[in-house]
Amino acid sequence: MNKYYDVLIVGAGAAGLYAALQFPKEINILLISKRELSLSNSSLAQGGVACVLDTINDDYKLHIEDTLTAGKNKNNPEAVEVLVREGPGDVLKIKELGVDFDLDSKGELQKTLEAGHSRHRIVHHKDSTGKAITDALIAQVLRRKNVDVCDNTLLFSLEKAEGGFVAGLLTSGGEKSFASAKYCIMASGGIGRVYQYTTNSAIATGDGITFAYKLGADIKHLSWIQFHPTAFAAENDRERFLISEAVRGEGAYLLNCNGERFVHKYDKRGELAPRDVVSNAIMLESAATNSEKFYLDITYKDPEFVKNRFPMIFENCLKENIDITKDRIPIFPCQHYLMGGIDVDLHGRTSVDRLYAAGECSHTGVHGANRLASNSLLEALVFSRRAAQDIIARLADDSTPAPEIPEEKPRTKGKELPHGYRTEIRRLMQECHFVIPRPELVPGNLRRAQEILDDLENGGYELSRDYVEARSLATVAVIVLKEVLEENDA
Ligand SMILES: Cc1cc2nc3c(=O)[nH]c(=O)nc-3n(C[C@H](O)[C@H](O)[C@H](O)COP(=O)(O)OP(=O)(O)OC[C@H]3O[C@@H](n4cnc5c(N)ncnc54)[C@H](O)[C@@H]3O)c2cc1C
Repeated sequence: MNKYYDVLIVGAGAAGLYAALQFPKEINILLISKRELSLSNSSLAQGGVACVLDTINDDYKLHIEDTLTAGKNKNNPEAVEVLVREGPGDVLKIKELGVDFDLDSKGELQKTLEAGHSRHRIVHHKDSTGKAITDALIAQVLRRKNVDVCDNTLLFSLEKAEGGFVAGLLTSGGEKSFASAKYCIMASGGIGRVYQYTTNSAIATGDGITFAYKLGADIKHLSWIQFHPTAFAAENDRERFLISEAVRGEGAYLLNCNGERFVHKYDKRGELAPRDVVSNAIMLESAATNSEKFYLDITYKDPEFVKNRFPMIFENCLKENIDITKDRIPIFPCQHYLMGGIDVDLHGRTSVDRLYAAGECSHTGVHGANRLASNSLLEALVFSRRAAQDIIARLADDSTPAPEIPEEKPRTKGKELPHGYRTEIRRLMQECHFVIPRPELVPGNLRRAQEILDDLENGGYELSRDYVEARSLATVAVIVLKEVLEENDA
């Protein structure tokens, strides 16, 4: 690994990988991921990527309308326009780069329907689209000579300096070092791990948002969090396996603890209502039945069809002793996606010069208050490419060298992190800002989150991954709860 780079990319999900692939060979890139390259929210994506590829049976205008309706018209219309019109080009590009999308009998990309979409426009690879995308992009990035890829390398600090940034890096072996870059693209993913139960992978601790916030970047709508109604309700697992919307799309019923369908009592669209509506219905029915037991039932469909259509869901449920062709699937809502994040313009620029953000950690405004299914991989592709293009254009006239790396070594020793902070943060977020918020609990929970954050900032703790992630979770909780409090007071 070098020490001086043109661009540092933090993250190896769809956003970070696709950004890296945009740069010509003269521009040298450092791409880091804090765990193995395959561990990201991107690689967990099941359903697919939404885009208009067939302008006879579909229309950009319809995709735009569907996105705005799902987002409760709180979207940035300009960003939605860019997403929808430019997205198809990026989807075709990643196909060219080796993503194995499913094809129909005519050899064209197969397009499926998901809740909230008025047309069949979701391209996919069975029910593991994210892995197909990241596998192909990782293979491409590893071939690029201008990209140094460092997995198991955590960003633990990011300081602004004349001409760029100095980044503190910590490897899984415990080695600490600094690297310098003229530009930084934060592509560090979401915040799911701030909740007790989430579909997000272990990396989703809001680190990038925390570093951007510390640098003074504008953070917008961090309390706009999406809860998925149907995550597999495993007894003890924090990371909950998603039972994709497509299962309801194919006709599965949602049942309460008494085996009764109930969603139509709360919304006439029944099981096919948008995510937030179905999650709400489950919470209201939970209060009405005084039970958290809920099920998805697709047992009345042909078993061969179910196994072929949902091979990954079938296999994962089987590991939990549930055969979805015969048994009802236990489900409950959990945290799934972050609509807000580091505020960026249409070129991924944050309010801090030279700092860019893309993917789930960013707020482009495309999702409004509620993301339309399968729009997030598309957002990651379109806006990470735009960020990279903007940096390429700026680098052409930028003769400032990357900042000098400080002489002093990163801090090595410190106090051991006390047990329980992460658990406490998760509990207090789950308690007051879950599907149906409880504003009366916010002031007390915010005070406690702030106390934890103050201690983490000032307690002289050893710089470890555990420490950095605990600090990020506390920072995210404080920003979210402050925003909720301000909105309630307004
Ligand atoms: C179960 C599940 C199913 C989904 N299904 C779909 C779907 O069908 N369609 C769709 O459009 N979207 C779907 N999504 C959402 C979508 O997958 C994500 O929003 C999107 O992939 C995020 O991509 P990203 O590149 O921004 O972040 P990620 O893919 O999460 O990548 C983040 C990267 O940042 C790195 N990182 C984080 N912090 C640090 C640090 N401090 N130092 C170094 N590296 C760091 C991580 O190691 C990782 O490499 C799904 C999400 C989940 C969880």
